[in-house]
This record gives sequence, C-alpha cells and structure tokens, in this order.
Amino acid sequence: MDQALLEVARRTPGFLPEAEGLALHGWALEAARHGPLLEIGSYCGLSALYLGSAARAGGVLLFTLDHHRGSEEHQPGQEYNDPELTDADGRVDSLPRFRQTLAEAGLEGSVVAVVGSSAAVAEAWRTPLGLVFIDGGHSQAAADADYAGWSPHVAPGGLLAIHDVFPNPADGGRPPFLIYERALAEGWCEVGATGSLRVLRRRSPAPARGGRGRT
Ligand code: MG
Repeated sequence: MDQALLEVARRTPGFLPEAEGLALHGWALEAARHGPLLEIGSYCGLSALYLGSAARAGGVLLFTLDHHRGSEEHQPGQEYNDPELTDADGRVDSLPRFRQTLAEAGLEGSVVAVVGSSAAVAEAWRTPLGLVFIDGGHSQAAADADYAGWSPHVAPGGLLAIHDVFPNPADGGRPPFLIYERALAEGWCEVGATGSLRVLRRRSPAPARGGRGRT
C-alpha cells in the first residue's frame, strides 16, 4: 500500500492494527473486480484508508456507512470515549474527523460516506458489492442486523469480511464471533484470517453466465 496513506493511517484514531489493515487492503484489491466495496463502521476513517486505497486502484467506489454517533463503548464515560469527537451539544460526532482523514489521504474521490442507520440503508440498497466489511456496533442486535442486512448484497465471487472475531471469549465480545459462526453455517467459507479479521466467500459457485437458466 501507498506509503503516504500508511503514514496517514498511523496518525488516525481507530481500532484496526496495521497488519489487519494491510490484509484487508489485499483482499479488497481482489474483491474490487466484483463490484464496489462497502464497510459498516467508518468512525474516524482508519479502515477506509486501507479499503479506499484498494477501491481507487480497482476503479470502484468504497461506500462507508456510519451514523457517526459512536457505538456504545464510545459514549461519554465509556471505555473508548474520545473527548475530541464531541459536537457542540456534547454528543459523539466522528464525522468531522472522518472527513479530515479522507482529505489528508486524498481519497475523497474514491470514498463515499453514507451517514445513517445500517439497517435502513441495507434495506434500500440495490447494488451488488465486491466486498462487505462488517465493523459496526458490537451489540448482538447490531451485529445480527449488519450480517442479515448486508451479506445478501455480496456479489457472486465477492467477499464478506468481519472484524473483531474472537474465538476465545477472554479476548473480546461475542457478537462478531457469533455472526461469523452463523455465516459459516449458512454457506460461507473462510478464505483468510489475520488477527481478529476473518474473510469469507460463499461456498456455492456463482451461477453460470448467459445461456442456460435464462429465458
Ligand atoms: Mg473493529
């Protein structure tokens, strides 16, 4: 990945270790052949650097979706609250920092911020995606909704990536691991694992193109 982008990544707040970001970048380069990329959970734009760089290289867009009001653990008084990400009313607002990251990286032409509810956008979404990266809310309800809402939008041959998958409960929360297990049970197979990042592809082959089966 571009050295200048890596330097922006190293000063961007977030929760994606560099090795996982680079792995995600590599998978996204491949996935961009199948369609645009989409991530759930933009926060300050750290993972959008790795994914957006791949999107630019592949000539597709990265859509990155977040309400930008912070997950449970980002709220004032919680473990991962960052007082710099607060608006005039005292609410979490990560959008200004996200925009700063994208501007510093020069990726505004390749990354589109979608600000709103993951479930609402998933329901209205119609474009098959080369890669979906689930890195949003860590409650079971949020993780379930992200998996149920977005996994059907992965294009044939595309990839589903999930962050914060911890097989050992001592290492982290259960919901991302549980949707990962659900995906394995529903026909996805694991093609990559780096740290807590898991990358999956649908086990069934893509439908044959043209001719048979079409009327
Ligand atoms: Mg994460």
